[in-house]
Amino acid sequence: MPVDALYRDDFYLSTAEAEVTTIHEDGGIELNRTCFYATSGGQPGDTGFLERADGTKIALAQTKHGATKDIIIHVPLEGEPQPLVGEKLTLHVDWPRRYRLMRMHTACHLLSVVCPYPITGAAVGEEEARVDFDMSETIDRHEVTGRLMELVNQNHPVYVQWITDEELIANPGIVKSKNVRPPLGLGRVSLVCIGRDSSVDSQPCGGTHVSETQEVGAIHIAKIEKKGKENRRFRIRFGAPGAEA
Ligand SMILES: [Zn+2]
Repeated sequence: MPVDALYRDDFYLSTAEAEVTTIHEDGGIELNRTCFYATSGGQPGDTGFLERADGTKIALAQTKHGATKDIIIHVPLEGEPQPLVGEKLTLHVDWPRRYRLMRMHTACHLLSVVCPYPITGAAVGEEEARVDFDMSETIDRHEVTGRLMELVNQNHPVYVQWITDEELIANPGIVKSKNVRPPLGLGRVSLVCIGRDSSVDSQPCGGTHVSETQEVGAIHIAKIEKKGKENRRFRIRFGAPGAEA
C-alpha cells in the first residue's frame, strides 16, 4: 500500500495519527500515512518526532523517499526507541523549521518570476536558498531584491492545481527547470500557482509552500555568483539586505 502523503494536500498539517507498516533493518520507519515531507525537489525532508501511546518520543533525523515516491521513510536519530509494526503513533513535524522552509521555497518561485531564465539547480535551506539559472546577463542584486519584495508585499495567493501527467507532457513549456525533473510518476502533478488565475506564475512542483506571498516576509538577494559563462547562482536570505558582498 502506498503511503498516504497528507502534506501533498495540506501544507499546513503539522500533526496526524498513523500506524507503523514497516520497520527497515537500519531502523527506518514506514507509516500508513504521514505529514512528514520527504526530501525531494531541492527541499529537505522534515524533522520532528513520533509520539508513542505512553508519551515517549522517537526523534527523527530526517524523512526521505524509498525506491519510489510512494515510499516515505522516517529515519530516527541514533539510539531512539524502535516502535513495533502495527503500533499507533502521533506525528509531530518540527513546525518552525518546516515553516521557514516553506517560506524560503516560495521565495524561490518568486525569484523565478523576477528572473525568467531556465533553472539548472536549486536547494532550499532554513537560513538560505540558492537557485542556479542558465543565464549570461549581469543583473543587480538590489534591483532583484526590490522586485522580490514587491511580489511579497502584493500578497498574491499561492495555491495548487492538480493536472494529469499527460497534461504536463502535452505542455512542456510550463516546466522551468532544466535539470530538476517535474514530480511525475504519481499519476497527477501539482502545479503551484501564484496570483489569481495564476497571473504571476505557475510551475510544476511537489514541495510545500505558504498560502500567500506576504507570509514569505522580508527576504533579499545576498549574493549573485558567476558559476561559468552561462550560469548564475543566486543566494536568497531572510531579513532586510545586510552588508554581504
Ligand atoms: Zn515549489
